Amino acid sequence: MALRSADFARVAVLSKGDLNQGATFYAQGGIAAVLDEEDSVDSHIEDTLSAGVGLCHPQMVEYIVSHSADAVSWLVNQGVPFTTKQNSQSEPAASNSDATTLSSLHLTQEGGHSHRRIIHATDATGKAVFETLQKRAHEHPSIDLIEGCTAVDLVTQVSEDPSKRVCVGAYVLNQQTDSVELIKSKFVALATGGASKAYLYTTNPDGASGDGIAMAWRAGCQVANMEFNQFHPTCLYHPKAKSFLITEALRGEGATLELPEGSRFMDRFDERLELAPRDIVARAIDHEMKRLGCDCVYLNISHKPAEFIKQHFPTIYSRCLEYGIDITTERIPVVPAAHYTCGGVLVNRQGETDIGNLYAIGETSFTGLHGANRMASNSLLECFVVAFAAAKDIREKIGHTALGQDIPLWDESRVSNADNEILVSHNWDEIRRCMWDFVGIVRNSDRLQRAERRINLLADEIQEYYSKTRVSNDMLELRNLALVSSLIIRCALQRKESRGLHYTLDYPELDDRATDTILDPN
Ligand SMILES: Cc1cc2nc3c(=O)[nH]c(=O)nc-3n(C[C@H](O)[C@H](O)[C@H](O)COP(=O)(O)OP(=O)(O)OC[C@H]3O[C@@H](n4cnc5c(N)ncnc54)[C@H](O)[C@@H]3O)c2cc1C
Repeated sequence: MALRSADFARVAVLSKGDLNQGATFYAQGGIAAVLDEEDSVDSHIEDTLSAGVGLCHPQMVEYIVSHSADAVSWLVNQGVPFTTKQNSQSEPAASNSDATTLSSLHLTQEGGHSHRRIIHATDATGKAVFETLQKRAHEHPSIDLIEGCTAVDLVTQVSEDPSKRVCVGAYVLNQQTDSVELIKSKFVALATGGASKAYLYTTNPDGASGDGIAMAWRAGCQVANMEFNQFHPTCLYHPKAKSFLITEALRGEGATLELPEGSRFMDRFDERLELAPRDIVARAIDHEMKRLGCDCVYLNISHKPAEFIKQHFPTIYSRCLEYGIDITTERIPVVPAAHYTCGGVLVNRQGETDIGNLYAIGETSFTGLHGANRMASNSLLECFVVAFAAAKDIREKIGHTALGQDIPLWDESRVSNADNEILVSHNWDEIRRCMWDFVGIVRNSDRLQRAERRINLLADEIQEYYSKTRVSNDMLELRNLALVSSLIIRCALQRKESRGLHYTLDYPELDDRATDTILDPN
């Protein structure tokens, strides 16, 4: 979005850690796009709607899917070194060649997709995309990349239309000076990622604490469908591996899921076997692990030639080898882990929220694309298509938008230095365990109510501490994590059915009518 806006505006990109600490950097599988002659936009739409179990917004699905080739074409032009049909047979490319065309890209397949339509850069697509775009942004004279700055809250003012507030900037904690600064801006886009850190086990990086969702909620934006948390079926199970995902593309290339004694089990859950949508595979694994009391199940690709495995999955091969697992000859121990937040800040196709001049893009937003279950590799696609539309919208508005006036500075006169850090670390662990145990893959109303009582108590305690103490990055994340956890639970309690990623023993059936869960802070 920064690159698409920088030709008509000055852009500051803030990140609370290093820029590469978002989920994008870790994306392995790829980006879904209709590029093959045998494939069609209709088929991609159909698969997305099917994975979303009746809850996707069909117009949004059509909009995003029909812009997939344009998004990939732009990325290729930026120089992202996607794997081509040619280099999938040999060494991966170090950089993109000028001659790369859309029809030359190698396509792989993932769960829920009925065609090969995932473009990728071996098994480290996010890294390739991130590094290329970061380099482009770094070179652009109108873009400032500012690391180590945590957005605390948005600043809003009444607009000319008194019924609507507008966003005029944000308060930001500068971690170098330890002070909270006001950044004024005509437009603000939240691209702060998801909230999977709410769960004890997750594939996400540490910063996925739902900050954007929490800030937008506090500013007065509606939030939707937070009950749909995607658990990735296959995260490496090893005491020393922190959040290492084993991409679905392995199953796309024939890897099988097996119980400890060696038998396959997916045939008892879905006719699509290992390529069933993620919710079905994660629930099947959860079911088998609980039934057998085992710590993990196994993913097996060792029947494929060793050269094929090393060439297609170099990152996974070498990471597993670091932990003593040779995936060309051995099975990989795996467990499900929180992976993707399908709900978020309610936006339209330009990424506009309820608040004027405030946009939300990517995992922090709720566009209606994913419905009750995100189909693999649709999320990066959504990031690009909506970001491009948001940049276009801003270009049209910027000429008649003024900077906010008379915005108060951050007031620290009534707070003191932190003296109770144990409260932060203890509550961080408590929230994540509570969410894992009571608001996990399989839910019931009793456990959700228990979780609600506990999280609300913690949120009150955290808010009291926050109001008296000088802010820190850890405390801000904790405050946001408590808020988004309470939003997840509220949404889960409101849904009296099982659909897609939300599965509750008290309401195991699917309702005839599919409705979004929309929460309004006003
Ligand atoms: C292991 C893994 C593999 C995945 N594989 C795929 C895949 O193959 N295909 C696919 O489509 N999707 C995949 N996904 C999902 C996809 O990567 C994410 O949904 C997507 O990258 C989210 O992008 P984003 O820009 O919304 O957020 P992110 O990339 O997470 O970036 C968020 C940024 O916001 C910053 N930030 C957060 N809060 C604040 C704050 N308060 N102040 C300042 N900065 C803040 C963070 O530091 C970070 O830099 C994967 C996810 C994971 C975790």
